[in-house]
Amino acid sequence: MVEKAVFFREGLFRWHAQHSRPLPWKGERDPYRIWLSEIILQQTRVEQGLAYYERLVSVYPTVEHLARAPLEEVLKHWQGLGYYSRARNLHRAAQHIVFERNGIFPKTFEEIRQLKGVGDYTAAAIASFAFNLPYAVLDGNVYRVLSRFFGIETPINTSKAQKEFSALAQQLLDPARPGAYNQAIMDFGASCCRPRQPTCNECPLAAGCVALQENRVGELPRKNPPLPKQRRFFLYAVFFQGDIVWVRQRPLGDIWANLYEFALWEVNELPKELDQLAVQLTKHFLPNASHLVTLKGIHGPYRQILSHQVIHALFFTFETTADLTQPLSSHFLEPLTFSSYEARIEEVEQKLPLPKIIAQFWREKVIPFRKKEVFHF
Ligand code: SF4
Repeated sequence: MVEKAVFFREGLFRWHAQHSRPLPWKGERDPYRIWLSEIILQQTRVEQGLAYYERLVSVYPTVEHLARAPLEEVLKHWQGLGYYSRARNLHRAAQHIVFERNGIFPKTFEEIRQLKGVGDYTAAAIASFAFNLPYAVLDGNVYRVLSRFFGIETPINTSKAQKEFSALAQQLLDPARPGAYNQAIMDFGASCCRPRQPTCNECPLAAGCVALQENRVGELPRKNPPLPKQRRFFLYAVFFQGDIVWVRQRPLGDIWANLYEFALWEVNELPKELDQLAVQLTKHFLPNASHLVTLKGIHGPYRQILSHQVIHALFFTFETTADLTQPLSSHFLEPLTFSSYEARIEEVEQKLPLPKIIAQFWREKVIPFRKKEVFHF
């Protein structure tokens, strides 16, 4: 094993010396910036994450800037990246560092691991890159490289694999250069030993690679089939009065927490009789309404695929004479501030963090009609 580990490490470093891709967070020693980049890259491709990293670093150059920013502003900068809990956790952890730790970033693996939103992988990356501590990273790239090189069959989405692979990754780590080693294996997995069509003919590890020798490269790593995604059906009533629209902030404990949406009625399936449904929606949200409500349009279904759910949404747009300064009904969670109930049309996209599906509806069906004096759909 010792010989194989040495062969593996040396091959990785050789490969990295020739193929390392320059990125703004590589070689960075500031733990705050490393943390920021790692959180962005948790569920995002490098190409997409790059612009967000640069924007966040320029708007919030230090952890203190991030901690003192309003959460909504941070969410707004995050819009389009998805998995908004990452932004909420970043913000909360920044406040913890600034207000409870005098602005001093944690320096040990265990302390870093306790930051909100930081798991084993991110803690190992920060600890090794910023403080040169000997903790091996284990992400999808590392699972793939190890599974192929050592010919390991254990399905990687199981807890057994987590133990097996993290012990192996730790054994292979170069204790003298943990940060450089972690960067090398991540880059190698992303570009040489990639999921499809790995470049085995240029691979410095080919001579020792079990998967290549046994012609199993396409079969590894193994994965158990994922559970089917939950399907959810959202009916949105979008109540306008001139250029004012009703919005609300989503509650904690469900997808899209703290983002903004319209009046939502969740149902078990999308109904077919849509006109009838529009009447029901109005009664649902304005049960005692004496004001005028006119249906302007029905749009969708729109679809958004999340990690464990698929959201199907229909948008019903209404013009109403209802009093916009009052909460719609008990369907809105309390306590909410006055501004949570209304927004000007131009503010919605510019200021409020929105789920992707709502931003798409807004861009396609509302903004193009914005310039018309009378608001039609
Ligand atoms: S030989 Fe191919 S499968 Fe094996 S480690 Fe190299 S790139 Fe990956």
